[in-house]
Amino acid sequence: MAIDVNDLFYAYSANDAIKEKGEYGGAVTTIMKYLLEEGIVDAVVAVEEAADLYDAKPILITDPEDVIKSAGSLHCGTLNIAKFVSKYLDGARDMKIAVTCKPCDAMTLKELMRKRKVIEENVIMIGVNCGGTMPPVPTMKMIRDVYELDPADVIKEEISKGKLKKTEWVEEKTVKDVP
Ligand SMILES: Cc1cc2nc3c(=O)[nH]c(=O)nc-3n(C[C@H](O)[C@H](O)[C@H](O)COP(=O)(O)OP(=O)(O)OC[C@H]3O[C@@H](n4cnc5c(N)ncnc54)[C@H](O)[C@@H]3O)c2cc1C
Repeated sequence: MAIDVNDLFYAYSANDAIKEKGEYGGAVTTIMKYLLEEGIVDAVVAVEEAADLYDAKPILITDPEDVIKSAGSLHCGTLNIAKFVSKYLDGARDMKIAVTCKPCDAMTLKELMRKRKVIEENVIMIGVNCGGTMPPVPTMKMIRDVYELDPADVIKEEISKGKLKKTEWVEEKTVKDVP
């Protein structure tokens, strides 16, 4: 099958664990893992959950088996990935990296590449669709006040055009609930 620039595909991971943990089937995580496994990049820059769902932290991964740690979308991850690359990875001067990018990260990276503060030849950007991030503290307040849920019980949320759409939460079960 011939593939052209701008062709579109539905994709999901052939790795069941990544497919399950990934946001919409784990295609992004699988591409990152492949790039690392094949030695096309030295490291992957992505994001992982830190203290809780509302706390995102950037990570640098060099072991392909660890890439799964970064699967899934952290909608409260208001991180500037471009700054992480330019400031803490010396603009990818000495290593080839693949980076997950929100549109804001991609635009910042392109600008830093133009100024040679990030080395374009050493960076593969993998874009994610993103309608906007949500600030962690107001989001927790909204979940408490509007959804009347404990933010700590929320296991997943979905956003559309920057607005919180739906939450899934842990249903507490006790021994009495077991039939
Ligand atoms: C902040 C945010 C907003 C989003 N908004 C929309 C939307 O409006 N509409 C929509 O259809 N989809 C949205 N998504 C989902 C996103 O587009 C999916 O992750 C994407 O479709 C890829 O699915 P996947 O299963 O292949 O991703 P996965 O394989 O799960 O990979 C997701 C990648 O994104 C990285 N990541 C997670 N959180 C962040 C973050 N805060 N900043 C940068 N990278 C991050 C992960 O580390 C991982 O590399 C959003 C995601 C994020 C992170």
